[in-house]
Amino acid sequence: MNEYKYSELMLDEYLEDVWKCIRCGFCNSVCPTSNTSFSYMSSKTSRGRIILLQAYFSGILRKPLRDRELQELLDYCFGCRRCLEVCPPGVRIPYMLWRAKHIGRRHNLLNKLIYSNYGSFEKLCSNFPSLSNNILRSRFGKILLELLVGIDRRIDFPEFHDVSLEKWIRMNRSSTSGKRLAYFIDVFTNYHEVGLGIEVVRLVEKLGYSVEVPDQREAGTLLLEAGMMDKAIKVAKENVESLYKYIMNGASILTSSPAAYIALKYDYPEILGDSKSKLVSEKTLDIIELLIKEYEDGEIRFNEKNSGRIIYHHSCFTKASGLTKHIKRLLTLAGYNLIEVEECCGIGGVWGMSKKHYNDSLDVGSNLFIKLRSLSSPVASQSETCRIQIRNNAKVRVEHPFSYISKAIELK
Ligand code: SF4
Ligand code: SF4
Repeated sequence: MNEYKYSELMLDEYLEDVWKCIRCGFCNSVCPTSNTSFSYMSSKTSRGRIILLQAYFSGILRKPLRDRELQELLDYCFGCRRCLEVCPPGVRIPYMLWRAKHIGRRHNLLNKLIYSNYGSFEKLCSNFPSLSNNILRSRFGKILLELLVGIDRRIDFPEFHDVSLEKWIRMNRSSTSGKRLAYFIDVFTNYHEVGLGIEVVRLVEKLGYSVEVPDQREAGTLLLEAGMMDKAIKVAKENVESLYKYIMNGASILTSSPAAYIALKYDYPEILGDSKSKLVSEKTLDIIELLIKEYEDGEIRFNEKNSGRIIYHHSCFTKASGLTKHIKRLLTLAGYNLIEVEECCGIGGVWGMSKKHYNDSLDVGSNLFIKLRSLSSPVASQSETCRIQIRNNAKVRVEHPFSYISKAIELK
C-alpha cells in the first residue's frame, strides 16, 4: 500500500488534481525550470512531474515517494506558481507537489532545525548586525553557511541592517490615530531592507493611517517550498491568530513583500481552510493596492518630474498575486516609460541559493541577465529574492517598484 494513505495532510484532496491533468503541456510553456537545457534533455518538466505522480498513484511506478530520485525530480518545482494561471483544468501543481515532498522528504536534523526556525535565526543575527555581516562577508562564513544550511558560497547574502524595521516602527511611530494598519513585514524587509519599510510607513502615516506591528513569524513560503507542510501550517496558524485580533479591533493588514502577500492572501486559506484565515485574506492589502485606492479617492497625485526609462521585471510571485496591473499603472502614472521583461531570474525563493541548484538557477536566469545588461536602465522588481539574484548576476540597479513610485507622489 502506498504511504500517502497514511498522510494527515489532505493529500487525498489534492490527488483529485493529479487525475485532472490532460497532459496538454501548457504548464511547461511558463514553468521556469521546464525551459532550460537540463529540463529539455531529461524531461524534468512541469508536466513530467505530474505524469510522474500519476504513475506513482496508479501503482505503475513501483517506488516509494521517499525514493531519492523521485524526490530530486519533484525538487525542480520551486513553487513560483506561474503554472496556476495557465492550466486549463486547474491542477494546483505547487500545492500538490509540496504535499508529495512533505511525505517523501528526509531532511537532516540540522537542516530541519534551521529551516523551520529561519525567522528566529534571522532575528538572532540581526541583534549583532556588525558581527553577522562580517561573518557573512568572509570566506570562512560563506563556507560555514554552505556546510550548515546548504547556501552556495558564491551567494552574496544581503547584509543585516543595524535596527530591525519592527523596532524602528515601535521607536518612531508618529501617529496613533486614524485608519489602523497592522504591518505584516516578513523577515527580509524586517532585517535587510529596512529602508524600504521605513519609506512605506512614512508615506502611509502622511496619508492619515496609523501603523502597528503585530507579533508575527516569517510568512513561511520557504517552508512550503521545502516540503515542510507541518511547520508551514504551524507558522500560518500563529500568524493568523495574531493578525485576526488586530482585524477584530478594526485594523487592516498591510504588506509590502510579495511573499508575505501571497502567504496571507492565498496560501494560508488554502492550507488552513478555516474562517479566520479567510478573513485575514480578505483584510490584507498590499502597499500597491493602498496607493491605487488613495489615487482613485483623489488623495494623492503624481508630479511630472520622472520621465526616465524603467525596466519592469515580472517576478513570479507578483504575477501570481494579481498585483502586476496595479504596479504597471502606478509606474506609468509616476511618469516612467516602461519596458517589460517576463523572464524568470531563477532564484525561486532560496531554491536558487542552494548549493544543489545554484547552477540550475543561473541557467534559468541567463536570458534575463543578458537582456538586463544590454538594456542598461534601472529595474523595478517586487520580489526581494529576485532583486538579490538580479543584483548579483546582471549587476544593474534594481529596486522595489514602490521606491520609484513614491518619489513621484504628492499629497493633496
Ligand atoms: S497545464 Fe495542467 S493539464 Fe496541462 S500538462 Fe500541465 S498540469 Fe497537466
Ligand atoms: S510552480 Fe513554478 S516551478 Fe513549479 S511547476 Fe509550476 S511553473 Fe514550474
